[in-house]
Amino acid sequence: MELKEPKVLAAAKPYAYDLTLEDWQEWIKESGEAGFRAGQIFDWLYVKRVSSFEEMTNLPKSLREKLVEQFDFVTLSEVAKYESKDGTVKFLFELADKNAIETVIMKHSYGNSVCVTTQVGCRIGCTFCASTLTGLKRNLTPGEIIAQVVKAQQQLDPTNERVSSIVIMGIGEPFENYDAMMKFLKVMIHPKGLNIGQRHITVSTSGIVPNIYRFAEENTQINLAISIHAPNDTLRSKLMPVNRRYPFAELIEACQYYVAKTGRRITFEYALMGGVNDRPEHAEELAQVLKTFPMAHVNLIPVNFVSERDYVRTPRDDIFTFQRILERNKVNATIRREQGSDIAAACGQLRAKHMESGAR
Ligand code: SAH
Repeated sequence: MELKEPKVLAAAKPYAYDLTLEDWQEWIKESGEAGFRAGQIFDWLYVKRVSSFEEMTNLPKSLREKLVEQFDFVTLSEVAKYESKDGTVKFLFELADKNAIETVIMKHSYGNSVCVTTQVGCRIGCTFCASTLTGLKRNLTPGEIIAQVVKAQQQLDPTNERVSSIVIMGIGEPFENYDAMMKFLKVMIHPKGLNIGQRHITVSTSGIVPNIYRFAEENTQINLAISIHAPNDTLRSKLMPVNRRYPFAELIEACQYYVAKTGRRITFEYALMGGVNDRPEHAEELAQVLKTFPMAHVNLIPVNFVSERDYVRTPRDDIFTFQRILERNKVNATIRREQGSDIAAACGQLRAKHMESGAR
């Protein structure tokens, strides 16, 4: 695996959502338009959320024409929408090039959280994950990631609810589409954009070490989650081939650096797989590793069944034992509440099914 970022499929024109406010300011300047137009465009896109330039009625016609000429709107056609009994809504969207992606809205007591996709497929190859089964097709553009949140917000508009948090935990490895992810984040947190609180956004990575260092320098309040899933190098390499490229010790070192640099805690995701990584000795070993962090948090995830994979679930009591061992060692641990299991809302499951029927 190389660090070089996979190519975005060359679109005829950039998407309007691909630009941050700063990008718009630059474009406006270059186009010889009045500076305040950038803010107006941004407002139409993210506050009024229109889906064409024609609707931007306070812009001069000549400017609207220029915009139409130079930019496209992202099309996310809804191939399927599943609503779970617990309020989870899962969308299967088709992009302009017919590739399919997934977006999920989860209802929590504290608000609505949206889970976004960053790549069409994934090349990380985690042995338990459905998103990686057919490899990576391409990166999403920033606009294609943003469009998912706008769609989710439109879904919530009729009930006057808002998207209050975002998790970058859909299909793909966000740290392999780093620049698009950062642009996406800039638009999400902008007070004149969707204005989502930085502390309400979490980006999850399988452990692309150089970009953990890069992210540490970004000076944001955005949360970082690391998919650790094993307490040592050998087992992690078996479950996650990415560990052969960025070994366990280097990952932990990068995490230590991140915490020292940002003063923020890291969430470690640990999917419990029956008989594989869920024994008390695994919990002890994980505790010894994470104890070295001033404040680590482990999120224990009962593994989601993926038909192509043969992992089984850890019995409930054993999950609690695992949690207790961590806590006894002063490592904070929570068990992820399951949502949307009746609609196959786990990563990549819908796209995988969709592809079985011959789609991309
Ligand atoms: N590529 C990023 C983003 C995906 S986030 C990452 O790896 O962190 C989704 C989380 O769900 C990751 O922690 C991932 O490892 C985990 N996951 C994937 N397949 C799973 C499954 N079958 N059961 C439980 N968790 C799974």
